[in-house]
Amino acid sequence: MKVAVLGAGPMGLAAAYQLVRDGHQVVVFEADDRLGGMTASFDFNGLTIERFYHFHCVSDRAFLQILDELGIADKLHWTETRMGYWYQQRLQAWGNPLALLNFKGLSLIAKIRYGMHAFMSTKRSNWRVLDNVEASGWIKRWVGAEAWRVLWQPLFDYKFYHFSSNLSAAWIWCRIHRIGRSRYSLMREKLGYLEGGSETLLQALSAAIKNAGGDIRLSMPVERVVIEHGKLKGVSIAGQATTEAFDRVISTIPLPFVPRIIPDLPDAVLAQYRSQANIAVVCVIAKLRKAVTPNFWLNINDKEMDIPGLVEYSNLRPLEHNIVYVPFYLPADHPTYAESDAAFIQKVRRYIQRINPEVSDDDFIDIHASRYRYAQPICPPGFLEQLPPYQTDINGLWVADTSYYYPQDRGISESVEFGRRLAREACQ
Ligand SMILES: Cc1cc2nc3c(=O)[nH]c(=O)nc-3n(C[C@H](O)[C@H](O)[C@H](O)COP(=O)(O)OP(=O)(O)OC[C@H]3O[C@@H](n4cnc5c(N)ncnc54)[C@H](O)[C@@H]3O)c2cc1C
Repeated sequence: MKVAVLGAGPMGLAAAYQLVRDGHQVVVFEADDRLGGMTASFDFNGLTIERFYHFHCVSDRAFLQILDELGIADKLHWTETRMGYWYQQRLQAWGNPLALLNFKGLSLIAKIRYGMHAFMSTKRSNWRVLDNVEASGWIKRWVGAEAWRVLWQPLFDYKFYHFSSNLSAAWIWCRIHRIGRSRYSLMREKLGYLEGGSETLLQALSAAIKNAGGDIRLSMPVERVVIEHGKLKGVSIAGQATTEAFDRVISTIPLPFVPRIIPDLPDAVLAQYRSQANIAVVCVIAKLRKAVTPNFWLNINDKEMDIPGLVEYSNLRPLEHNIVYVPFYLPADHPTYAESDAAFIQKVRRYIQRINPEVSDDDFIDIHASRYRYAQPICPPGFLEQLPPYQTDINGLWVADTSYYYPQDRGISESVEFGRRLAREACQ
């Protein structure tokens, strides 16, 4: 079969990889000038690095399997990482029972309740009972008002803004569970990174697709999936007059783009795509001469900083300089999102120096901001039922994005697994 795959992020590339393995003829269309979507890299003045940080967990099964198949499993390394919490203008240890017990600024009872919830969340395996439960209420019932206010609320407020009070508990639980399972023991956590970053996976996937006769076309935004009299015809590209015929089309682009590209789907389905909420990200990356903290992940609760945390990536993956990512997750209609990259960069300089006053202006070697408009779907209770089926009513047309593997959060492993599943189901 001749199959068009829309999008060359991990999901689109994994779908294309599976399709060529299964003997199909594949063309991948990517709007960007590079592979990767959210995992794409850029040239940070001599260092090729992702626009957004990526780490891997021991439970990332589909990711581990594809590395193996591509012969690059030896590029994955594990590091024993540390977490911290910036609270009451103090850097505190975080992420294990001892750190919780020693945490300053929280009563003992609040610590016990918080710990119980975290522990039970890692033990739970059935998400269905949480599917229709609202997350902030679920957490508050477990941990109480104090631990919610100190430890959870800032993370919700600065990641989800006005969506905070209507999120699925199953979706939030899945994040706690994934990290919880990446532990050696109660006290120690290990996370993974790829030598060369996500680019290593992207290049290996691209080579495997091309070696098997597949085609990947960059800077080729699909303008329209052409449907005539209810039948799939093919795709047309911006600036090209003709339609290229395909037997199957698999779209992996963010759902909010779909109504524009496939306007011939039923109105009710288009309305469902349009109603999916999504948040954007502005992610600042700083190259520094000094480490900010010894942690990979730092949660933040500080009225002076409008971020839920920062990621000190070089504490996971050894690099020549210290690399810190500071993500600002924001609804795209929030006034802060309209601020310039320079304004975000200015804030990040201030925040880093607030956390570690020993970092001087001279310690900043380079700093850069990247944006992604559809960085995170918002999943309210009962989310899956609100999505149209990924096999559309048009024979041969399949539409999905990161929302479809709810209750899992968006992740490379999850996108790879779902992409392969789409490929198999679309062409069986
Ligand atoms: C800040 C941040 C941190 C993250 N951290 C981690 C992490 O630590 N670990 C982890 O596993 N995951 C992480 N992720 C998530 C991970 O990057 C995503 O789950 C994954 O990249 C999703 O891949 P995808 O292919 O499903 O979607 P995308 O990456 O969104 O790919 C969609 C592609 O479609 C293309 N496209 C759009 N319109 C068109 C069109 N008209 N025609 C053709 N192409 C089009 C886009 O350019 C894009 O390349 C993070 C994401 C962000 C934003």
